Amino acid sequence: MSVISKQIFYDAVKGVDCEQMMHPWTSNCYKSSFQHIFYSIKGTGKFYLIIYILQLLVKGNKLRLDDIKQQSLQLLQSTLFGSVFVITFVASNCFFRNAMGRFHYYIFPGLTSALSAVSIFLENPKKRGVTVTSFLYLMFEVFVRYLEEFNYIHRTTGFETFVFMICSAALLYLLRIVKHQKSNLWFFLPPSFGKSKITDDKRHYCPHRGSCWDDIINNTAKYFGFGVLVQWLRATVPKFRKILKEPSLLNPFNLKTLKLGVFTGLYVMTYKMTSCFLCRYRKEDSPLHAIPSGLLAGLAYIIRPDLTVILIAICNLLTLSEYHFKDKGLLPKWPFSEVAYIIASGILFHSQMVIPNCTPKQFVNLMHSFSYGKSTEINKRLWDYIAKSQELKKLASL
Ligand SMILES: [Zn+2]
Ligand SMILES: [Zn+2]
Repeated sequence: MSVISKQIFYDAVKGVDCEQMMHPWTSNCYKSSFQHIFYSIKGTGKFYLIIYILQLLVKGNKLRLDDIKQQSLQLLQSTLFGSVFVITFVASNCFFRNAMGRFHYYIFPGLTSALSAVSIFLENPKKRGVTVTSFLYLMFEVFVRYLEEFNYIHRTTGFETFVFMICSAALLYLLRIVKHQKSNLWFFLPPSFGKSKITDDKRHYCPHRGSCWDDIINNTAKYFGFGVLVQWLRATVPKFRKILKEPSLLNPFNLKTLKLGVFTGLYVMTYKMTSCFLCRYRKEDSPLHAIPSGLLAGLAYIIRPDLTVILIAICNLLTLSEYHFKDKGLLPKWPFSEVAYIIASGILFHSQMVIPNCTPKQFVNLMHSFSYGKSTEINKRLWDYIAKSQELKKLASL
């Protein structure tokens, strides 16, 4: 596996200035920063526009004009956050390169991306959850891949299922008791505990309307459909052009697409069945029921083992615990999530340069859309300088 050491890095960027690395179309750093304002607004605006339109579409019949107004304002705020991130990144790299006389191994692009990530405070607090969770799980993925690549750990489906079961139990319990469920990345939200009684029937102990079997069957079908749709979109959207020529590729009924549906459906079915059984058996609802229900539901992991799912569960668990403990006064009201996001940005950008094989593709693609392709261009230039210096070294040793 290729690891870019300090020596390789400094050999490659020797004499390279910020114009050559960051903005080859202009020699003026200020001019480049202004141009990046346009690129970043285009990149981040387009990126968030798609997400916010999807969020509005999910509301379906319940969609109101107020929702569109609110979502438009949030789109502006998110675009501002994304743009400030990109501009700070470019400007601070120019500044440090010129102040230090060379690109520094830890500053470019690690420290400068951490500095840019401070812009998270400009993002709407309600929308920060998803951004923070995404960066955190990607950072954990780098750690796991690194440990695996260097043979420090060996992953097995059995152990991963066990970890997922524990995470699922703790996460579903927290989702039931945390009062203000902020935006998160978990696909299934169990009913919150403590809401007013759902029906007047004194023998109905479950937190849902209608009969238990109706609730179980409806939710299983809903989440099975959700899983199939997500996997189908993940598989077809990147191949959009190819599909126009060959429409048969749109077929959602292949084994891979169905597997995610079976996982999400089985997960929700097991949770619902266990929860209803416990409510009927104990003749009361309790948030503690989420622990055995979530534990058993976690067994569905065997159907479709995926490290990303465990990491997303762990990150949601961490961010929800933070809200919960702050709410209970057990943690000071410090911005732990935001600081974690800043650290994760630094680590992800640094790892992308030093250990590219361990950096998740999602992160590279995310930064590509965010910066309107500029991050890919900067990376390509760096790799070209590295390749060139390595070639020269080989020639010199001959
Ligand atoms: Zn510059
Ligand atoms: Zn029930």
